[in-house]
Amino acid sequence: MIFKNIGVFSGPDLEYINSTNLKISTKYFGNISNEILPEKEEPIIDCDGLIILPGFINAHTHIGDSIAKDINLDLTVNEKVNPIYGIKKHILNKSLPSHLASYMRNTCYSMIKKGITTFIDFREGGLEGIILLKQILKSVPINCIALGRIEYYQTDSQIQKNESISQEQDYELSIITKHADGLGISGANEYSDSILHYFSQTSKIRAIHSAETITSVEKSKKLTAKSEIMRALQLKPHFLIHMTYASKHDLRIARKYTDGIVVCPRSNATMAERVPDIYYMMKLGYDIAIGTDNVMINPPDMFREMDYLWKTTMAINRTKISPKHILKMATVNPGKILHINKGTIETGAIADCIFIKKHEIDLDPIHDPHASIVHRASESSIQAVMINGKIIYGKI
Ligand SMILES: [Zn+2]
Repeated sequence: MIFKNIGVFSGPDLEYINSTNLKISTKYFGNISNEILPEKEEPIIDCDGLIILPGFINAHTHIGDSIAKDINLDLTVNEKVNPIYGIKKHILNKSLPSHLASYMRNTCYSMIKKGITTFIDFREGGLEGIILLKQILKSVPINCIALGRIEYYQTDSQIQKNESISQEQDYELSIITKHADGLGISGANEYSDSILHYFSQTSKIRAIHSAETITSVEKSKKLTAKSEIMRALQLKPHFLIHMTYASKHDLRIARKYTDGIVVCPRSNATMAERVPDIYYMMKLGYDIAIGTDNVMINPPDMFREMDYLWKTTMAINRTKISPKHILKMATVNPGKILHINKGTIETGAIADCIFIKKHEIDLDPIHDPHASIVHRASESSIQAVMINGKIIYGKI
């Protein structure tokens, strides 16, 4: 299939080409050039008035709590989502799996409508939690990287004694890692060094919440006399999540051990926590990606997340940041962190993309295409969404 006369955010640098032709063969992008010739009977679609953008990769979600939107807004982070005693755990335990599944499915469709073609989910509930998510995904055409966990959390004294994993928990972990795409660990404050090290031995993806709140940072120091981030690094994570209260020192040290940080600034702000030091993370050369975090706290909308992150970071640092950097955090960077051959429009990459209406009332006239996407585009600017080379939402 050839798309003619289309605007493209091309390659890993998201270079904007106002009008060109783009080929898609099966589920991959082919050449991008004005010179492409169609093969015999190959369909050609005139896309004048459309811009193609890599599909958004929402790098951190918890869609399992879609049933609990805006419940108890005034609670603290821990009162809401602590894996041991938070209200979220209570709601998930008390809800029927079919009800949870129904709202999780709705969230998947909501994300597709907003141009999210891949999401990386932290799934609670042990093996059952992962199986429920995988079942839902059979009927929804979105890509998901499902990170599971065992429902086992240690007490402070077990952590101080450096207790290791039991045979029973080890067995559960081995089954979960077979079904899941990796491990999504709630935080270093729930595990001993021995268990964090044990988790690090899985060959699949490893990620962990880190320094999300001042309380968790202080707890780590009190409990172990070590920084929460230094303890989290024992997981050998592919990426750290939040880093809201990461000190400059921690960020410099962590840079030696991991390339990836996923920030969730709107989730942090909703909890009345501060916004992470994204400017300094950029200076250190991290691959920064964006996630929308818990659905119960924050709607999964990458347009809103980019807009918020761009402006708050500039306001805090009183320095201009190119909107192209922000757009990369929603597309190119998470693709790079996960090595999934997605997040860019270039020959050989998987064809996940968004078709944006150039002349939509909020965008027209577009003078700076990157800025227009970051702070003017919205769900209503989307003409269609393609996943794995197929249009799965809208029409072109
Ligand atoms: Zn989270």
